[in-house]
Amino acid sequence: MVYLGLYALQHRGQESTGISSSDGAQVYTHKAMGHVADVYSEETLAKLKGHASIGHTRYSTAGDSSEGNAQPIVVKCSHGTIALCHNGNLINAQDLRQELAAQGAIFQSTSDSEVILHLLARYQGGDLLDALGQSLSRIQGAFSLLLLTEDSLIGVRDPYGFRPLCLGKLNGSYAFASESCAFDLIGATYIREVEPGEIVLIRGGELQSVKALHAPRLAKCIFEHVYFSRPDSMVFGRTVQSSRDLMGRILAQENPVNADLVVPIPDSGTAASVGYAAESGIPFAFGLIRNHYVGRTFIEPKKAIRHFGVKVKLNPIRELLAGKRVILIDDSIVRGTTSRKIVKMVRAAGASEVHMRITCPPTVSPCFYGIDTPTKKELIASSHTVEEICKYIEADSLSYLSLPGLLRAVSAKGGEFCTACYTGQYPIEFADMIPDAKAGDRQLDLWEASLKE
Ligand code: SF4
Repeated sequence: MVYLGLYALQHRGQESTGISSSDGAQVYTHKAMGHVADVYSEETLAKLKGHASIGHTRYSTAGDSSEGNAQPIVVKCSHGTIALCHNGNLINAQDLRQELAAQGAIFQSTSDSEVILHLLARYQGGDLLDALGQSLSRIQGAFSLLLLTEDSLIGVRDPYGFRPLCLGKLNGSYAFASESCAFDLIGATYIREVEPGEIVLIRGGELQSVKALHAPRLAKCIFEHVYFSRPDSMVFGRTVQSSRDLMGRILAQENPVNADLVVPIPDSGTAASVGYAAESGIPFAFGLIRNHYVGRTFIEPKKAIRHFGVKVKLNPIRELLAGKRVILIDDSIVRGTTSRKIVKMVRAAGASEVHMRITCPPTVSPCFYGIDTPTKKELIASSHTVEEICKYIEADSLSYLSLPGLLRAVSAKGGEFCTACYTGQYPIEFADMIPDAKAGDRQLDLWEASLKE
């Protein structure tokens, strides 16, 4: 079941994957670099014995992309064997790591997630739930966690609720997943989200819930709805497809343009394009075809792969685009380099005009809570106006969805979402972020290079 579920969650991480299982006496683990389809075999799955299991697909936002950082991370300590899967990013991991290392802790990986296990191993008094509550009160940042011991399965969500985690049921058993699309695949029923700050313990078929962690506000990541999650998933209690459709509709209301075709940049621009086309009355067409065998360029960690990916990922259909005024719909402009290549590609296919519409506000600040955005200096919108970006990507026009429009599209009720990558207002600030997040340098290299091309 976990193996199948990981297929549904492959888009959340493509660097490594792992599964741990428990038969009540022992925890078994298999993990390796690569995609779910490549890492497991009948043989390896047969060795993952037991009645409970957790799995993970990883892309790195802290620590390097290596087998040593693949999850679940497994340790043996006074609480027994513990396997941990972490979705998110801890912002005080470095400080805690230094503190723990100074006290003699030996770290096996460079991942921020390992800090959680070191803290947990140190709390000797009380049961696992007490130790977990104490340990988690020391960490800051984004964390949706699954822990597996010999006899327990535990789901945790940080008190800000940055990353999703939902609870489901299948044949009288419980299941957790980052997104509900994993439940659909295995035939589990979605029950609810794990609440921000909640620890859910499953032991002996019984569920115990503790509201252990508290925060001054909620900060659910709005980018999950813009880009990261699958459109067929229920995330933060809402279907992502509905949000994206509304983003497209509101985008069409806010930023209309006379054109012949609405063309999505697949796949994440697709749902919003349907909404944009329906609202504007302009026909929708798949004018760009995506090669699905190239990974999501955005989450590949190496620059060389990213640039290679852009070239092989999309191909225009000339017959559709020739002589047409085209509206391209995309979910974001990060560095601007990809958008520039796509606009060029569409023009080269014969489009007479190319208008770019983006389903969120300009990305002006990096994320520190589990999305691998580049530094502020690399984000084109951090130092360029919309007009300048439009000129750089060589579009005829460029507009973004407004922040109120985006909040309306996800049905946000007063301040429950993190929107820091669009506003620079971080729900949790910390010292190390300041030099990067506040950096005001313009992308001079990029800009000057483009003018020479
Ligand atoms: S900064 Fe952006 S990507 Fe990161 S958690 Fe906030 S909304 Fe999500």
